[in-house]
Amino acid sequence: MKSSKLVLLSLSLVLLVGACTGGQTSTMVFTLPAPQVQLTDSPTIFPSTSPTATQLAPLFDIPQNRTHYELNLTLNYYTQYGIVEEIITYTNRSAQVFEELLLSIPPKNYPGSFTLWSLSDAAGNLITNWREEGINLHVPLAKPLQPNQTTSLRLNFRLDFPTVKGTFGVSGRQTNLVNWYPYIPPYDETEGWITHPQQVVNNMVVGEYVVNEVADFDVTLKLTDREELIEVAASAPAVEANGVRSYHLELARGFAFSISDSYFEHEIVEDGVRIHSYVFMEAQDAGKAVTEIAAQALKLFGELYYPYPREMLTIVAADFLHNMEMDGMVMISYGVFDFYNGTPKNNLTIMTAHEVSHQWFYSLVGNDQAKEPWLDEALATYNEVLYYQRYHPDLVQWWWDVRVNHYIPQGDVNSDIYIAGGYESYRNAVYLRGAMFLQEIRDAVGDEAFFAALKDYALNNTYKIATSEDFFDSLAKYSAVDLSPILARYFSD
Ligand SMILES: [Zn+2]
Repeated sequence: MKSSKLVLLSLSLVLLVGACTGGQTSTMVFTLPAPQVQLTDSPTIFPSTSPTATQLAPLFDIPQNRTHYELNLTLNYYTQYGIVEEIITYTNRSAQVFEELLLSIPPKNYPGSFTLWSLSDAAGNLITNWREEGINLHVPLAKPLQPNQTTSLRLNFRLDFPTVKGTFGVSGRQTNLVNWYPYIPPYDETEGWITHPQQVVNNMVVGEYVVNEVADFDVTLKLTDREELIEVAASAPAVEANGVRSYHLELARGFAFSISDSYFEHEIVEDGVRIHSYVFMEAQDAGKAVTEIAAQALKLFGELYYPYPREMLTIVAADFLHNMEMDGMVMISYGVFDFYNGTPKNNLTIMTAHEVSHQWFYSLVGNDQAKEPWLDEALATYNEVLYYQRYHPDLVQWWWDVRVNHYIPQGDVNSDIYIAGGYESYRNAVYLRGAMFLQEIRDAVGDEAFFAALKDYALNNTYKIATSEDFFDSLAKYSAVDLSPILARYFSD
């Protein structure tokens, strides 16, 4: 951990931010009725140590024959490229016989960033007759893969990181590796392979388009240049030996890194979970505060849904102007950190609650982020106000005013990321009207049924890819109230 003198800009401004979450201050006051009900403590279902996946097993169906990704990355931080050896071990869990597998390669969205050196099958034979379609490769198999059969693919490739202020690429202060390797998408018996194109409007990426099943990861990272200067934030804790960092992460949708020679770190341990922040030098106080906010958020969502089942939560200051969730890790814009004013009336508090709640609604409970983004984004936005109701009830109306009402949001909550109008339309419809929709549902069914249904939805869809139908099935278990008038106002057919 590094240390230095800190100059904290005690600006009381709150900054606007973009992709996963955004917020902006306003002094305008609107009159949408705000919920005044305070959350009651729900009983915790676990002791105060972090449960492991195995301990949680009785609560969930643990998917068997999960895909395994072995990723061995050698990276030169200063010349901004990496070489990767990847081995994907894949079991056909469908009822179909696969003549080919689909590999989806997100780095191919950035021309020149991905160079495939070799692709070979389980027998070690080179595969050269693959067919390219957008960012996807159709990979023919020498022998068809029967249901329940397992095979593997081995890839060697080079990554040349694009200069992008985003989750894949390099900025002045940071190299981010999110969705940085080829993966096999989920296979649906009727729809086939689930892949969607990235949506970019006015040079802004709108929402998330990658849909992943939970898989297991064994990852190594070797830094080749001035390693002693470099800090690595990742989806899981590292074990270091002989200059190689090794990581093991189970039941996750992806494995992410954020690498920098400019991080200042802080860690606390709460209820057995290591909460570790990585921020830039001007935000060292905020880097400490964010761990405390995240601890509160983990505690609240642990009570509402179930305890966070991982050993560590990594929080990284993003060197770009939006926020993003990954498995075991969240990135919050440096802008949000820089404008932290030491009070909860601030975007750092809002965004931390939001991003931490994505550990449940995105990572543990999956959804099709392109087609049904409301399932994680409306819930994450609504989780922000649940955080305020629990810890800062005097700021609940402020939250509704600055986060939602200020924008006078329009649009269907069940819009997809391809909604006309780009990011703002998407945020207004999915996040902001999503939060209003959830509040109306809560008012209609009552707190007891609402929170029981949310917990039921979380428990029943952990490690799966949930749908809107799953969400409404959970609600219907706890309330017979006719929700169709609310749905008619917020959802399109
Ligand atoms: Zn979000």
